[in-house]
Amino acid sequence: MSEKKGKGKLIIVSGFSGTGKGTMISKLMERHPGKYAFSVSATTRKPRPGEEEGKDYFFVDHDRFEEMIAGDELLEHTSFSGNYYGTPAGPINKLLAEGQNIILDIEVTGMHQVTYRRSDTLTAFIVPPSEEELIRRLTGRGTESREQIVRRLTRATEEAAFAHEYACIIKNGDLEQSVDELEAYIETEKQDPRLHAENLRLTEDISNKLKRYISKEI
Ligand code: 5GP
Repeated sequence: MSEKKGKGKLIIVSGFSGTGKGTMISKLMERHPGKYAFSVSATTRKPRPGEEEGKDYFFVDHDRFEEMIAGDELLEHTSFSGNYYGTPAGPINKLLAEGQNIILDIEVTGMHQVTYRRSDTLTAFIVPPSEEELIRRLTGRGTESREQIVRRLTRATEEAAFAHEYACIIKNGDLEQSVDELEAYIETEKQDPRLHAENLRLTEDISNKLKRYISKEI
């Protein structure tokens, strides 16, 4: 029996690549089975070990992706670190109409496109506790080359410039605590302004340190 009533919430979660936002989303969904649906994106990126077709992404080739763009099948799409990523529109419309809450793990330009179309979207930006931790997580994943990591870190500094546009900013140091914060934001649709300001300062600080790190790497 469904307990869902009224309109589903559309929740965008963005953040630097390697902040663990995917883990946060999985944890949140585990805590409340059936309460949230994950929007599975299409991408031209190759699967990482352990990633599943249709669960993590729909892995498609360039031609198929361009067909999806031409056919207006995507709610939004972007190019990120040399690959296409996009949100299939069909499932979103269907699930929202059923009153289901949907989580989108998308980057900043995707957030802009979705919020332009739907002003009632919730937006959360996830930051790592420090730049060292981010570099450690990205390097530890072992799936990207040095050049790709620098490219992702560069993109992180670009995304940091838009963190202030998100209604909620969360530091992902302790996983349970950051999931609590994400959940509280989704429930109340607000974040304590002092915490928002504090995490925005942290984002700017990390971004400045990353810029110095990148300039030494290239
Ligand atoms: P990754 O390659 O690490 O899985 O994802 C790279 C970035 O692309 C992440 O910041 C992720 O949030 C973003 N991303 C994943 N799917 C989509 C999508 O459908 N649209 C947009 N705009 N960004 C996406």
